[in-house]
Amino acid sequence: MKNLLRKNIERLQAYRSARHEYMEGKATLLDANENPFTSSHNRYPDPFCSELKSALAVLRDRSSRQIFLGNGSDEAIDLLFRAYCEPGKDRVMQFIPTYGMYKVSADIHDIKMLSLPLNHEFQIDLNMVRELYPILQPKLVFICSPNNPTGNIIDNQDIERVLSICGQSLVIVDEAYIDFAPHSSVLAWIDRFPNLVVLQTFSKAWGLAGIRLGVAYAPADIIEVLDRLKAPYNISVHTQKVALEAINDDDCYRKAVKKLLAQRQWLSKQLSCIKEVEYVYPSDANFLLVRFKKAEAVMTYLKNHKIIVRDQTKKVPDCLRISVGTESENIQLVQLLSQYTS
Ligand SMILES: *Cc1c(COP(=O)(O)O)cnc(C)c1O
Repeated sequence: MKNLLRKNIERLQAYRSARHEYMEGKATLLDANENPFTSSHNRYPDPFCSELKSALAVLRDRSSRQIFLGNGSDEAIDLLFRAYCEPGKDRVMQFIPTYGMYKVSADIHDIKMLSLPLNHEFQIDLNMVRELYPILQPKLVFICSPNNPTGNIIDNQDIERVLSICGQSLVIVDEAYIDFAPHSSVLAWIDRFPNLVVLQTFSKAWGLAGIRLGVAYAPADIIEVLDRLKAPYNISVHTQKVALEAINDDDCYRKAVKKLLAQRQWLSKQLSCIKEVEYVYPSDANFLLVRFKKAEAVMTYLKNHKIIVRDQTKKVPDCLRISVGTESENIQLVQLLSQYTS
């Protein structure tokens, strides 16, 4: 996908520390102006995150060369704009309603965002894509699956079609919530589609939003570009250590996903029995999109009782997005809502 790159990025020489040349074994480190008199966090982290990438490569059955690690998925999104989109000139595409960061990132880079509406089942309208893609010629196409805030998986066959139709663009499939929708990841397709980028994150199912770690999987030539653009030490020592520990002992992650799915089912059922609730959308994620008779009033009522949910009424009329919490948090929410009177 080299012809998609901005010319200045194609020419870019990445910053190289002395440790890019020398990585193996122990050495006396007098190259990076660190403080030698302290001991725990005085050294710069591994700029390649070699150990963490190897562990992820095994976990996800990929090669390390197909993995980019960023300060949250948002860093990968930002770098994709920086690498492939000429400010003030290029366009990108998304399917709405969806995650707000794609548009914010486009605005930051002065890139025009073209938003195609999802259909009434929150799926992609392929005819619209076929018709508009050749006219719009976006550099990047964002698909969020499971989609935020609607919660549903985007049909894998449709994603495959979009990858083919939009062959001259990078198609970014954001799988932040994929762990809650087993057997649906399109990760393995990066061997088949040179234009596919898959985003995953440690912020949701792994329960590590605080360490800020996002992952982009893509064919090696795309990963090489992102690595050239990133800040040399973008992933801290602490983040690398904590993520590696989580992967090496993923029992906690598996148990959390299982508990979450049980709570999601319970909460969905309870909410649909509440008078003020009009509809609970089916969810493949760790949140529920819920349509209320009067969403804003419910939002205020919950806030007055110190429960914060997300107002989505501007994206989906009358809807709030509610994260699935612990058992006691969910009970608290259901009790409060059942006492609500408008
Ligand atoms: C939460 C979320 C992310 C995760 O972002 P991080 O920067 O990795 O925390 C990515 N995409 C979507 C759609 C999300 O909802």
